[in-house]
Amino acid sequence: MLQLKDITKEYVTGSRKVSALDGISISFDSAEFVAVLGPSGCGKTTLLNVIGGLDRYDSGELLISGRSTREYSDSEMDAYRNHSIGFVFQSYNLIPHQSVLANVELALTLSGVSAAERRQRATAALESVGLKDQLAKRPNQLSGGQMQRVAIARALVNDPDILLADEPTGALDSHTSMQLMDSLKALARDRLVIMVTHNRELARKYATRIVELSDGKIISDSAPSHQELVEKPAQRGLKTSMGFKTALRLSLSNLMTKRGRTLITAFAGSIGIIGIALILSMSNGVNTYIGSIQKETMSSYPIVIQEEAVEIGGVMDTMRASRKQQEHDLDAVYADDRATRRLSSFQSALRRNNLQAF
Ligand code: ADP
Ligand code: MG
Repeated sequence: MLQLKDITKEYVTGSRKVSALDGISISFDSAEFVAVLGPSGCGKTTLLNVIGGLDRYDSGELLISGRSTREYSDSEMDAYRNHSIGFVFQSYNLIPHQSVLANVELALTLSGVSAAERRQRATAALESVGLKDQLAKRPNQLSGGQMQRVAIARALVNDPDILLADEPTGALDSHTSMQLMDSLKALARDRLVIMVTHNRELARKYATRIVELSDGKIISDSAPSHQELVEKPAQRGLKTSMGFKTALRLSLSNLMTKRGRTLITAFAGSIGIIGIALILSMSNGVNTYIGSIQKETMSSYPIVIQEEAVEIGGVMDTMRASRKQQEHDLDAVYADDRATRRLSSFQSALRRNNLQAF
């Protein structure tokens, strides 16, 4: 069913290397209740994440039904995560603003199931964990045990072959824990359940097999699997996609449940646009103001067009030229014709405007 071959995984944080999984080799049968025990930090969560395809491993091989996941394409890996694996987390990971029913239905939205079938299957899954009367409640209106049962219903609604549970009883009292273990045990009759726990007593009482981890290694296994792995044809044709309408509806409902945040985000986003609009309108206003001031000022100095006008530029030129001719070499009497020339230049500079044409 599931086989790990010499799986290793290291985490590097700064200069420190932590070997979370250090050569894990183990096989699981298709229907057993495995408890994984070990002290905190020994790699239990990492192991579950690797099995569930939520995390990558550095070396080794993970075989599902005899086929290595190295050969899996991205979409096959998605299909495996969505259809073959159910996850139950210690902290439930329910969406607080969605109803219990919607939380479970959400697990089906990726499976391309119609809305009516989604509702019907989610209701059935919740019924099977004894939460028939709580469908419309929000997760925070439930007790811890009930929330964990919602999480189990969510994990089961896809009818996965493998159920992975990471310390599912970690936040529950002993009575509720035992109820939960009963449900898990019942589920393990026809599927593989791998549960990580701190609680040795519960593991002994309910699990059919106990695997102990220490520092990323398996130090004991109460019932090693000797099942020969036969390659089964992979489940093909299972698609993992969300319809456009479903995606739109989900994002809308998400936006509406956080109205305040949505409004503030929209306002913050629009500040830039508002700023640009303000600057544009101010510059437009200033331009209009300058224009009107110009108009007012100019209207007190009207342009006058007369029939006859003197071209002042030409007159100035002649005056400048005439000043230069005042020096003479010979000691003689010269006539000073400056005044005449000035006069004649005035005359020649006289222009006649064609007022008719205006
Ligand atoms: P367990 O679930 O048994 O408590 P984990 O699998 O969560 O242990 O972690 C195993 C080791 O890997 C721990 O030493 C932990 O500090 C380290 N570890 C886990 N996740 C990360 C991470 N994302 N980055 C760095 N180190 C990690
Ligand atoms: Mg853990």
